[in-house]
Amino acid sequence: MDMALSKDDLDVRERARALTRTYLFPVEEELDEFERLAPEQEATIREGVRDHGLNAINHSREHGGQGMTIVQQCIVNEEVGQSTGALWGRVWQPPMCLKDGTPEQIEKYLIPACAGELSTAFCTSEPGSGSDAAGIATNAVADGNQYVINGEKCFASNAEFADLSLLTTIVDGDSSKPTLFLIDKGTEGFNVARLPRFSQRSGHGHPELSIRDMKVPATQILGEVGQGFELTKDWFVEARLAIAARSIGMAIRATELANDWANEREQFGQKIIGFQAIEFMIAEMATEIMAGKSMLYRVASEIDAGLDRKQAHAKASAIKLFCSETGWRVVDKAVQIFGGRGTMCENPVERLYRDVRLERIWEGTSEVQKVIMGGQIAKRGLDMYVGWS
Ligand SMILES: Cc1cc2nc3c(=O)[nH]c(=O)nc-3n(C[C@H](O)[C@H](O)[C@H](O)COP(=O)(O)OP(=O)(O)OC[C@H]3O[C@@H](n4cnc5c(N)ncnc54)[C@H](O)[C@@H]3O)c2cc1C
Repeated sequence: MDMALSKDDLDVRERARALTRTYLFPVEEELDEFERLAPEQEATIREGVRDHGLNAINHSREHGGQGMTIVQQCIVNEEVGQSTGALWGRVWQPPMCLKDGTPEQIEKYLIPACAGELSTAFCTSEPGSGSDAAGIATNAVADGNQYVINGEKCFASNAEFADLSLLTTIVDGDSSKPTLFLIDKGTEGFNVARLPRFSQRSGHGHPELSIRDMKVPATQILGEVGQGFELTKDWFVEARLAIAARSIGMAIRATELANDWANEREQFGQKIIGFQAIEFMIAEMATEIMAGKSMLYRVASEIDAGLDRKQAHAKASAIKLFCSETGWRVVDKAVQIFGGRGTMCENPVERLYRDVRLERIWEGTSEVQKVIMGGQIAKRGLDMYVGWS
């Protein structure tokens, strides 16, 4: 078994590390304080992403992406995920399902999105439907060669700015027909109802949307009527591995900072690293990172080697569960090691503490990952998780 990173993988890591440290870390505090960056700063970061060859790492070269392996995508997410305020989102990864569009949709949306010229939002969650995504009620009713859509959405990250919103609906009130619509910015009837504040200060919101008699041509459907969830299945694997990689990245940064601090801070006439209570916390943090990182890269390389799609989906749940919970536990310990200074917003560890909390919730909560795993164990047996082949 060879789990060593290739020369190309190491090059990807260097580029992602350089981008994170040169472009993202320096603007973190400003973003946290003012909840926005100046347009020139955003433009500089976008240029940096292109210069480092990190735009659309999840798409093919044919469409203007980087054509990276899953392992390489994890490497990038581990590095950029160390930045706070969701600055990792500036390293754009357009929704994978855009590749399933018609040639016209690919030309109009995917290619500019990969180039960083078109921003996107993905609007599935609703006031009455979160974990139970199949319970969405936003309804598209056929009317000649167009659809009239009504409904409410919430937590629609970036939808107040996005050039393109992917909107999940049902069709004709039939919940067996989940369907994705491509909604251009400014489409009449697509309204931001409220922009609540969140613990993470990322420079964009997660608005509540009110969709009223919005008329959309049938040509704006992605894939086919009823294909909405099928088209997003692969994306769930990608998104869950990305969350796991980011969580590990956050845990690594927090541990490095806490270890440095413990070797510098003196109390009772000695460095606090000399107290076994602190030394043990660092040892536990390192162990958890090692475990999470091992499962993440093992399965990522299995996927690159052609792992069956259903198994990838099942394993991604375990990885998202473990790595996001690990990230949380590790960052919490880092705050503890910093003492009161761990709660100062100028300390990256404090901001990581707010950010890492989200990773246990979005793209399926920890409880939902366990529900998925429970179903898989009942259906396919435990071996998928505890075996090795
Ligand atoms: C900052 C932020 C950004 C987001 N961005 C987006 C976005 O861009 N697009 C989008 O569509 N959504 C987005 N979301 C929504 C996110 O995916 C949901 O918050 C998440 O799926 C959970 O849904 P919920 O918040 O409604 O919680 P609920 O589904 O109401 O769950 C509440 C609690 O019940 C538990 N629970 C629910 N069902 C079960 C079960 N079967 N068994 C055991 N426990 C269960 C949950 O684990 C949780 O602890 C975002 C959320 C946040 C906070």
